Amino acid sequence: MNPVLLEPWQHALPPRIRAWLHQRLISEDIITTAKLGWTGKALSIPIFDQHGQFAFCKFRKDPDDRDPATPKYWSQLGARAALYGCEHLIHRREKIVICEGELDRLCLESQGIAAVTSTGGAGVFKTEWGKALQAIPEVYVCFDNDAAGWKGARRVAQLIPHAKIAEIPPELGLGSDVTDFFVRLGKRREDFLALLAEARPLPKERPEKMHTERRNPTKHTDAAVSQIKGHSSIEQMIGQYLSLRRSGRTYMGRCIFHDDRVPSLAVYPDTQSFYCFGCGIGGDVIRFLMEAEHLTFRDALKVLAHDASTPWKKISNH
Ligand SMILES: [Zn+2]
Repeated sequence: MNPVLLEPWQHALPPRIRAWLHQRLISEDIITTAKLGWTGKALSIPIFDQHGQFAFCKFRKDPDDRDPATPKYWSQLGARAALYGCEHLIHRREKIVICEGELDRLCLESQGIAAVTSTGGAGVFKTEWGKALQAIPEVYVCFDNDAAGWKGARRVAQLIPHAKIAEIPPELGLGSDVTDFFVRLGKRREDFLALLAEARPLPKERPEKMHTERRNPTKHTDAAVSQIKGHSSIEQMIGQYLSLRRSGRTYMGRCIFHDDRVPSLAVYPDTQSFYCFGCGIGGDVIRFLMEAEHLTFRDALKVLAHDASTPWKKISNH
């Protein structure tokens, strides 16, 4: 892509998209300095290297586009994962937040908080970035509140030994992120700094714990769960979210939980399970639905029960 396009795209940013960015607490100043633009169909987010040279563009789908077939984010073809905000490394910040997602980063920057993110999603964080970030005295990792986020945060914390994990308040629910913290809770810069002050160096083993709590059904529910799982075909359900291609007894598709350029997500009809070789997310049909729709275990069951025409009463009646 020719960087010459960036300026016309900047001028083409429609008022409704600008308003949407403001709702996400991305300031006018940051919209300008980040050179956000509009391709006519998508928001363009130019990624620069640490010398300020344009590297490639990342795109975010039109927030009014409700078609689930359109990916939410994608990169310009041939782009390799980069550290968005890497200019902070040259300026030697005292404190930096590693977050998940370009717009979360811009939300933090709008609050005057230096932040970086991998353009490759939570599952991609290069060792060389970790080494460079070790030079910054205070490093915080604040990823999304979901399985991919927890796994990614653990990996980053392993690369940067002094990094602390800041957790999005659990009341925001599964799948919540930095922007939700500000927008849905009405929080401000001071509140986020307080969140950072509570950050801990070692990640808690919360994901597994949360899942055991959720997956602690009574025997009665257990039977209903098996019944629902028996009624829903995992390849059909996942096939509604991404296009799957058959390869022997397996189906492969591009993972929706990370910025997947090759089909990394495998669906195994034999065991009714899925696994992504890119970000490590995996499990059964319930797990997929929980992650894809940000549902609780019980709500995912409800959806599936409805799907399989199994009365929900059978499950809730315990
Ligand atoms: Zn993945």
